[in-house]
Amino acid sequence: MMDLEKERNRMVDDQIVARGVKDPRVLAVMRKVPRHVFIPEAMRSMAYGDNALPLGESQTISQPYIVALMTELLELKGTERVLEIGTGSGYQAAILAELCEKVYTVERIKALADKARLTLDNLGYHTVAIKVYDGTYGWKEMAPYDAVMVTAGAPNVPDPLVEQLKEGGRMVIPVGERYGQRLLTVVKTAEGAFTQKSIPCMFVPLIGNHAWKE
Ligand code: SAH
Repeated sequence: MMDLEKERNRMVDDQIVARGVKDPRVLAVMRKVPRHVFIPEAMRSMAYGDNALPLGESQTISQPYIVALMTELLELKGTERVLEIGTGSGYQAAILAELCEKVYTVERIKALADKARLTLDNLGYHTVAIKVYDGTYGWKEMAPYDAVMVTAGAPNVPDPLVEQLKEGGRMVIPVGERYGQRLLTVVKTAEGAFTQKSIPCMFVPLIGNHAWKE
């Protein structure tokens, strides 16, 4: 256990702090949440490496730096209700749960949602609610949200997600081609939605009615 903590600290120092992530709350949580528990057993020895990893069903858990950067871009203070699209392993949801009041996360593949539920329950993350659905519709019943994070690559920003974002709220979403996107931060204001561009990235596709078709 000690060794894994050491590996996590090295991951944060060498991959995340070194690349400019500064939010002390984000850094503390990246040092705390046991990423290896979310990784299929056969690959756990690679859990703290500087790369994305397969999580089953042809999907991937993002590189630690990308998880930290996207989290930092949401600027969470602790009281927010956050919507995540693409539960995957549940790792990003656990990171968010540590930094806000409640996480609503939507996953289209039931087998992944079921596994994530188990992992999150075992670790005691009881403020994460999971729904199996096409997340390009958001999670309307629980809207509006203070922040939205999309962890799959979209051809454009799905309208329902902007609608379900509160005024003053922030959304982080990779937008672009099927194989290669730019990370966008969308800030919703009374005057409309403003977009800031961040780094190039590569996510598995967001598949749904308001995104890629299969
Ligand atoms: N955040 C995850 C990684 C997500 S990988 C983690 O921390 O492990 C992207 C996930 O988005 C995959 O699990 C994929 O099945 C899911 N996905 C793709 N399109 C979706 C959609 N329309 N609605 C919900 N989930 C979707």
